[in-house]
Amino acid sequence: MEKILIIDDSPVQASFLENILKDSYDITAVHTAEAGLRHARTGEYALVLLDVIMPEMDGFMLLKQLQNETITQHIPVILITSLSDTQNEERGLVLGAVDYIAKPFHPIIVKARVNTHIKLYRYRVQIEQQAMYDELTGAANRRRYDEYSIQKWQEAIRLHLPVSICMFDIDHFKVYNDTYGHPAGDRTLAAVAKTAENYLRRGTDFFARYGGEEFVAIIVSGSAEADFEHLKKIRQAVEDLHIPQNTSVSPWITISIGGVTVVPQVGDVYETYLKIADTMLYDAKRFGRNQVVWSNGKMKQWKEK
Ligand code: GH3
Ligand code: MG
Ligand code: MG
Repeated sequence: MEKILIIDDSPVQASFLENILKDSYDITAVHTAEAGLRHARTGEYALVLLDVIMPEMDGFMLLKQLQNETITQHIPVILITSLSDTQNEERGLVLGAVDYIAKPFHPIIVKARVNTHIKLYRYRVQIEQQAMYDELTGAANRRRYDEYSIQKWQEAIRLHLPVSICMFDIDHFKVYNDTYGHPAGDRTLAAVAKTAENYLRRGTDFFARYGGEEFVAIIVSGSAEADFEHLKKIRQAVEDLHIPQNTSVSPWITISIGGVTVVPQVGDVYETYLKIADTMLYDAKRFGRNQVVWSNGKMKQWKEK
């Protein structure tokens, strides 16, 4: 059930609207623009029904404010007013409202308009999801990773944040596919992604499918040592899934991980460090797979399960 926010200074009007919609939606009603703004900023609402005439901050001012903030600018806003003149209607639509409902309310029309905008909202969310997430594994996709990595790298330079970049690759996955079939390979790929992602749940962790059976993580780092230890847990957790396979490395599906920790400086290029992580991954493969190899940015290597 989508959440709808009603902002109307008249409790009577607000509860009238709420009664029309409450069977189909999760309604919150507030009576000042300030309270409305506070609720909208939670990012939880699929639609805002906003009264134009309110004391202090009116609906037009609040609409402008909502349009100015990153979290709230994509929430569709339907203006509610008794001002049925076209000038105000035009003003609201130009400011970015998606629709206009005039008082007195006609319940069926209110419901129909709200349903239409909720339907559009659902499509938008679905398309946004598909644009950002990999369908098979549910991890962020390559496109999202490309955007995120650039953004995070710039932020790390600006704030002097230590960052770890890690590359993951499933060991002997071609053999696995050849032995158990591609659909089983797909399921295993999803299970490995889910397991890794379970260990990367902090707000500052990012995990994506890099391509094929390779994944990448970008972590705001405590220290190289701490991240190395943490990634070793991920390697272990994947082996502990006990997905049978048929190679000399292990009786179970395993992954190799390469990582690097760095505090990027102005002028440092992200790709340089991604390449170091990839070199560490290559070494993990070379040293026998099913292990984590790490660099602290000066190419010092730790190699360990
Ligand atoms: P290594 O230990 O050196 O990484 O060996 P590998 O066999 O895992 O590496 P290689 O790069 O030779 O093969 C990767 C395999 O991953 C081949 C490909 O069929 C499989 N693969 C890539 N993407 C998918 C996918 O989406 N689904 C399935 N089932 N398999 C995939
Ligand atoms: Mg592989
Ligand atoms: Mg590979």
